[in-house]
Amino acid sequence: MEKKMRAMIIETPGGGRKATKITDVPYPKCGPKQIIVKVMAASICKHCEAGYDQGKMQLTKAEDYPITLGHEFAGEVVEIGENVKNVKVGDRVTVDNTVLCGECYYCQRNQPLYCENFGSMGHNIHGGFEQYVAALAEKAFLIPREVSYEEAACTEPVACCMRTLDRMDLTYGDRVAVMGAGSMGLILAQLIRHTSASQVVVLASTQSKLDLCEKEFGIRTVLVDRQDYTKHEKAIAEMFPHGLDFVVDTTGSAAMCNSALRMLGKGGKLMEYTVVDSFAIEDAWQFASKELSIIVSWCQTHNYGRCIDAIAKGYVNLKPLITHEFSLEDYLEALDTNLKDRNSIKVLIHPHWEKGKKIVHI
Ligand SMILES: [Zn+2]
Ligand SMILES: [Zn+2]
Repeated sequence: MEKKMRAMIIETPGGGRKATKITDVPYPKCGPKQIIVKVMAASICKHCEAGYDQGKMQLTKAEDYPITLGHEFAGEVVEIGENVKNVKVGDRVTVDNTVLCGECYYCQRNQPLYCENFGSMGHNIHGGFEQYVAALAEKAFLIPREVSYEEAACTEPVACCMRTLDRMDLTYGDRVAVMGAGSMGLILAQLIRHTSASQVVVLASTQSKLDLCEKEFGIRTVLVDRQDYTKHEKAIAEMFPHGLDFVVDTTGSAAMCNSALRMLGKGGKLMEYTVVDSFAIEDAWQFASKELSIIVSWCQTHNYGRCIDAIAKGYVNLKPLITHEFSLEDYLEALDTNLKDRNSIKVLIHPHWEKGKKIVHI
């Protein structure tokens, strides 16, 4: 009889919540260059998982369905393929979700993030919202003892933030503001604090997250009043009379992007981490006369090694960001918590927990 396991799948393209099932699926087969990972913790990526829930994610093609979501996960190696040398059974690993062709124009130019056949576990290859997942061994990274599975499951968002930092190319003494205090904002702020940037401040509209940022990470914050942006812009102008060198936006809000352009000093740069639906520059004269620029960063690849070091050394403390943990069987409750509870940051999924078990850390 075929061996089965539990998984959270989307059955049909664009099917959204109606096509979301927690069900039995076949146990994965281990190819010669693959490993089977017993998933000990996986993390909800709010933006991506909400996209699937609403039936509108673009990375997954019709032929990929049914697909197991979950591109952020960690676990124990339980099986290795015959050609695998870098990991062994029993190792604790996290897996870089990206799968690249190695043959296209961009791969051959050493620009793998632009791969024309870009693949990602949890999008067009089965991901970590299942009990056991097959992965390429070359994408597995050992987790040091001091890093928990829960923290290691959040390596991917750190890797995306690392990509953002690489794109920013900070200069010694830069003054930086991060807009948004969700997981990306709070990871980015911590990473930036460990660069040569002289000052970093976080702006957001949820006071509880700003309190967490100051208490846990010792990073200054400014509250955003969504009805009156002049308040935070005035506070920033008092802190930085010559304006900011960088504003990193993780909110995706067009109004916040325009606010960022007002807060930037001459020669300043807006780093747009997330996707803005549409963004029109309100003050083109200011944009031109201050010689502002906008840079974009999206996704990551080949960053996991550096990120695990940063997590292990404490440059990024992920523990305070993990606010909720649920069983895989309660996936929809976990997603709704992440979408509706403004105090939630990272919500984890445990594929081997029994239904109903949950931990709330806040
Ligand atoms: Zn993610
Ligand atoms: Zn390629």
